[in-house]
Amino acid sequence: MSRSVNLHELARLSADDRANLLKRSESDLGAFLDRVRPIIEAVRTEGDVALARFANEFDKSPVKANEIAATPADFDAAFKSVEPEVIEAIEFAVENIRKFHSDQKPEEMWLHEMRPGAFAGDRFRPIPSVACYVPRGKGSFPSVVMMTTVPAVVAGVKNICVITPPGPDGKIDAATLVAARLAGVDKVYKCGGAQGIAAVAFGTQTVPKCAKVLGPGSPYVVAAKRLLSDVIDPGIPAGPSESIIFADDTVDGALAALDLLVEAEHGPDSSAYLVTPSRKVAEEAIKALPDYWANMSEQRVNFSSTVLSGRSGGIVLTPDTDSAIAFINDYAPEHLEILSDEPFAYLGRIENAGEVLLGKHTPVTLGNFVLGPNAVLPTSRGAMTHSPLSVFDFMKRISVGYVTSVGYPQLAKHARVLAKYEGFDAHANAVSDIRDRLLKK
Ligand code: NAD
Repeated sequence: MSRSVNLHELARLSADDRANLLKRSESDLGAFLDRVRPIIEAVRTEGDVALARFANEFDKSPVKANEIAATPADFDAAFKSVEPEVIEAIEFAVENIRKFHSDQKPEEMWLHEMRPGAFAGDRFRPIPSVACYVPRGKGSFPSVVMMTTVPAVVAGVKNICVITPPGPDGKIDAATLVAARLAGVDKVYKCGGAQGIAAVAFGTQTVPKCAKVLGPGSPYVVAAKRLLSDVIDPGIPAGPSESIIFADDTVDGALAALDLLVEAEHGPDSSAYLVTPSRKVAEEAIKALPDYWANMSEQRVNFSSTVLSGRSGGIVLTPDTDSAIAFINDYAPEHLEILSDEPFAYLGRIENAGEVLLGKHTPVTLGNFVLGPNAVLPTSRGAMTHSPLSVFDFMKRISVGYVTSVGYPQLAKHARVLAKYEGFDAHANAVSDIRDRLLKK
């Protein structure tokens, strides 16, 4: 079957057409919001019974209301059924992810002297509880388990659980259980989609109410997070996967095409562009794709070819390097790979991206699984203002201040002026001679 790939020549596009290339498939959540409202309400009022019903309906999974939690026996069985080399790879990845997030973890407190005798700083504390959402609809994602639970453990969160849709066999994906236990998490619940988000927002007979939910998911998950954002902190926006592979003329276009398919194969709602100022690279990439597709499963070929021929994918040929970089910064991709003999020459010009992977030996695959940085990244232009998932998403800051009798007079003088200007009498009194008299008693 022949498959087409979009070739967008930036120099020939109108401003509107260029703006269309920046759009993602998840932009319109309207229909999903309506769809998930009754699901949320059912979970709120019925709890586990609703979770079992929706598992049956949406996941074709014969889960009973008293079987929502994974048991120790489920974990043990998972370790027996998963190939030893997969367990070894998960151990290797967990180690790197743990190291990265431990290095990222801030000291418990900093306190600096702002003025003589006046100290201020931050104290970092873990959040009390978190639910990590692990998708299952279009695949199995032990990598998402690792990327969400390991930083939570490193941050010191006391109550961590994983929620994920059960499979048609009524069980949780075995590698998900292996990854959870190796990360140090033993609470895993069979509930996905909007019902899973509602379960951790309200709590059910089995599933604990959580302060925050994190992890990527389908539009049902994204819609439920949005509707429940008053009840549970929905974390960074992470929707359908997306990437830009940037390649300059030092690169074989076949290599760029190889990596272009990585995020494109996630699902038909993914977005993936090869952005290059080199016509040679673009042509080599187009030529190479059929060979790669010949060695992929029908499902992955369908997903990736749908993306590359659809409205959020293909090759963007730019008139020069400057316009390529401008396009990347406007797009703010979740993953950005820079293929070049001199990748660091471009790094300083990238303003908006969830992650930047440099050079020919750093494909997105390594970042997604084993390198160490978090692969749950802001999507849908979220990288304009948001950062990747990190240890900071599982912690909060508490500001700390301490003023001595030496520092007090200078600060009080200026604070009194500002308090009076803003019309706050009590504020002004608290730093007036009333205080001085009381302190002298
Ligand atoms: P999912 O678990 O998020 O969604 C499946 C669930 O959606 C089902 O369990 C069901 O509860 C619900 N659902 C399905 N059809 C429904 C319907 N008709 N009505 C109500 N609910 C319904 O898994 P998915 O579908 O594979 O989506 C995963 C998403 O996460 C993809 O878009 C993928 O690109 C993204 N992803 C991102 C990353 C990342 O790091 N950013 C990693 C992996 C996956």
